[in-house]
Amino acid sequence: LARLRERLARSNNALGKGLLALLSQDKIDDDVWDEIEETLLLADLGTEPTLELVENLKRRVKVEGSRDPERVRTLLKEELLALVDPTMDRSLADDRHDNRPSIMMVVGVNGVGKTTTIGKIARVLVAEDKDVLLGAADTFRAAAAEQLATWGARVGVPTVKSDIDGADPASVAFEAVKAGIEQEVDVVIIDTAGRLQNKVGLMDELGKIKRVVEKQAEVDEVLLVLDATTGQNGLNQAKVFSEVVNVTGIVLTKLDGTAKGGIVVAIQRQLGVPVKLIGLGEGPDDLAPFDAQGFVDALVD
Ligand code: GDP
Repeated sequence: LARLRERLARSNNALGKGLLALLSQDKIDDDVWDEIEETLLLADLGTEPTLELVENLKRRVKVEGSRDPERVRTLLKEELLALVDPTMDRSLADDRHDNRPSIMMVVGVNGVGKTTTIGKIARVLVAEDKDVLLGAADTFRAAAAEQLATWGARVGVPTVKSDIDGADPASVAFEAVKAGIEQEVDVVIIDTAGRLQNKVGLMDELGKIKRVVEKQAEVDEVLLVLDATTGQNGLNQAKVFSEVVNVTGIVLTKLDGTAKGGIVVAIQRQLGVPVKLIGLGEGPDDLAPFDAQGFVDALVD
C-alpha cells in the first residue's frame, strides 16, 4: 500500500508542486488566485467545483487573515476533501449472501482497463480467502474472453466463457452465475463488452445481461471502469453508461500515468456515485481502495 501511495503521490506531484509554489508567495493576490484556479482546472477538477473551492478558500483566508502558506495549504486540503466527499460509502458488494454469491458486473469502454481491473479485484478477493468465479460476457472480441481467462489463471480463479465467437453475452453471463451458485462461490464477476460507438446496441446488451442474470440472482454491484487519462472523454462515457445501467461504483484506472487526479471530483459530482477503487499500474497488485484523505494528501503534499 505504501508503494501505491508513493506512486500516486508521484503522479500527482506536478499538481502539488504547482500549488505549493503558488501558495508560498508572500502575497496571494488576484493573479495568484487565478493561477491556483488554473492549476485545479488543469487537474480536471471541473469548472464548477474549482470555482466553488477557490471562492471558499478566498473567503476563509480573508476571515482568518492568515497568509501563512502552511495554513492556506491546510485550508486547501480541507476544501478538497469536502469536494471528494469522505462520507460516501466506498465498500464493495463482495460478501456472499446467505444462499448465493454476490454478483458484480463490470462495464466500460474497450481499452480503459476493464479486464485488468477484474483480474486485480479477483486477486484481492482471493487474498481475503474468497472464492471467485469470472464470467466472460464480452463475447464480441474473440481475444477478450481469452485475456480474462488468462487473468483468471494468473490469480487462480475459474472463468466461464463460450468457445463460440460472438456467443450471446447474456447467456454466458447466465451460465457464469449458474456455475457460481452451484459451486457456492462468494463472488461472481462478469466482464462485459464496451463498444460505445453503438449506444443503442450497448444499452440493449448490458440491459439484457442484467435482466437475464437477475433471473437467478440480483446484481449487487455495477462497477464502471474509467481511464483517468481521458479527461472529458471519460466524463462523457460515464454519462452514457449511467444512462444504460445503474452504476454503483467507479474504478478509475491509470492514475499512475496522469496528474489529472481531480477527475475523481468531477466524476463523482456528475454521477453521484463514489470512486471505489483506483488503478495505479499494469501489475496484479496495482489496485487500491480509494481513500479520500490519502488522495487529497497525495494531491497537495
Ligand atoms: P479493457 O479493454 O478495458 O479490458 O482493457 P485492458 O484491461 O485490456 O487494459 C488496457 C491496457 O491498459 C493494458 O495495456 C493494461 O495493462 C493497461 N492498464 C490497465 N489498468 C492500468 C492502470 O491502472 N495503470 C496503467 N498504467 N495501465 C493500466
